[in-house]
Amino acid sequence: MSEKKLNHVIGGEHVPPASGEYFESTNPATREVLYSAARGEAADVDRAVQSARATFEDARWRDLSQTKRGHLLRRLGDLIGEKAEELARMETLDNGKLLREMAGQMVGLPEYYYYYAGLADKIHGDFIPTSDRTVLNYTMREPLGVVGAITPWNSPLTLTTSKLAPALCAGNTVVIKPSEYTSATILRLAELALEAGLPPGAVNVVTGYGVEAGQPLVDHPALAKISFTGSTATGARIASATAGRFIGSTLELGGKSPNIVFEDANVANAAMGVVAGIFAAAGQTCIAGSRVFAHRSVYDELLERVTERAARIRMGDPLDEATEIGPLAFADQQEKVGGYVDLGRAEGARVLTGGRPSDGGGLGGYFYEPTVLVDVDNSMRVVREEIFGPVCAIMPFDSEEEVVRLANDTEYGLAAGVWTSNLSRAYRMASRLEAGTIWLNTYRAMSPMSPRQGFKSSGVGIEHGTETIKEYTRLKSVWVNTSEEPVADPFVLRS
Ligand code: NDP
Repeated sequence: MSEKKLNHVIGGEHVPPASGEYFESTNPATREVLYSAARGEAADVDRAVQSARATFEDARWRDLSQTKRGHLLRRLGDLIGEKAEELARMETLDNGKLLREMAGQMVGLPEYYYYYAGLADKIHGDFIPTSDRTVLNYTMREPLGVVGAITPWNSPLTLTTSKLAPALCAGNTVVIKPSEYTSATILRLAELALEAGLPPGAVNVVTGYGVEAGQPLVDHPALAKISFTGSTATGARIASATAGRFIGSTLELGGKSPNIVFEDANVANAAMGVVAGIFAAAGQTCIAGSRVFAHRSVYDELLERVTERAARIRMGDPLDEATEIGPLAFADQQEKVGGYVDLGRAEGARVLTGGRPSDGGGLGGYFYEPTVLVDVDNSMRVVREEIFGPVCAIMPFDSEEEVVRLANDTEYGLAAGVWTSNLSRAYRMASRLEAGTIWLNTYRAMSPMSPRQGFKSSGVGIEHGTETIKEYTRLKSVWVNTSEEPVADPFVLRS
């Protein structure tokens, strides 16, 4: 067991686990143990939810002006900016994603807090001009209470921030259960929230396993909302666990996104977009462009370009600036990806490049070669199921009509890419593809200002942008009688 022990952050304190037990977190590039984190269970979750509820009801938070809430978020953004290097390194050590990518994410992360800091004093209800001028009707947008946030390991701080920043902006308090693989930066985030001046209990973190710590959070009766990012299978479990309690849930789930290259595209750029879509972050992104469709007339050229670039992707230590692909996040991920490629072979797919696990040139971690599969079709499991690794399937198509049908023939609907120089076609595709985010001649672009939503099995609810504030507030309608006239008839009181 590692010497370095990380405890929960509850009510502004570092709190050891009720059970006294810890679990290890390792560096996936080298398999070295980094630290051990508190193994949370129902008792820890209960303590965190109670603490969050007490802060929610405390006048120092409840009555804080919205402008001041915004100041606190801005200050938190500043602190994250100051610690960007430290946070990026911690995330890379924990999840194996490139330091270059995590550094970029950390530099951009304060913008999320600034965006919601700016929005904090713009949350308000409306005045409704009903027909009776003596009766006023107005609405209030209120915070919900304690929000539970459960997040995955692939971009821990960014995905947690997508929930935390709007939840706090709207006046809620939060209990976070991070992935068991990436506890460290989320605990650090809770410390920074305190340093920024957020009251103890506004941001709580209970670390641990999904079933032991995540499930009790979902099941806690004092929870007002659950906001989850993770697999579709866990999302479905959460949806059924909360269904009878009628609490809100925002679910950001898996994907199997199409990346479509038309004959009129700039094929060199499209090939770069395909490589970025599937091999960036070793394919461990919900938006991975894992199904590539190329018009038959450019299919060979695209294959050649993508395969050539994939074959010379530099795999290695994610801390090294020259590395282009790091390890997968843990042993099961490596096994899962390998299992899918073997399944693809058994289904008749041909591996054009990659197709093998690797130890990353002697580092000993959980690497897998960037892999291109061809001779595949929509009936195969490698094309239908989310692999969450550096594996793309490339398929030819003959017409726009056909590719719309193929692209939409999936249970998922998270994102889609389209490469074309024909504006009319781009416009048509954007409206016909069943996905919450469409990228035209680009891929993986995102911003805290831009709302995103998964269609079909990719999720429920909106993250980012102004729309997400609705997910963290409830609307109250208030009626005020201003008339001094005596009530003549109690049976027609309402106007
Ligand atoms: P999981 O669903 O396995 O886990 C996500 C989180 O849920 C983890 O914190 C996990 O804990 C926890 N959890 C697991 N079981 C339960 C349970 N029964 N009750 C409550 N919480 C539970 O997903 P991954 O961590 O493997 O993340 C990868 C998935 O996330 C992919 O499917 C990916 O597409 C999706 N994703 C979606 C995004 C989006 O915006 N749509 C963005 C990024 C990823 P523990 O770690 O201990 O298992």
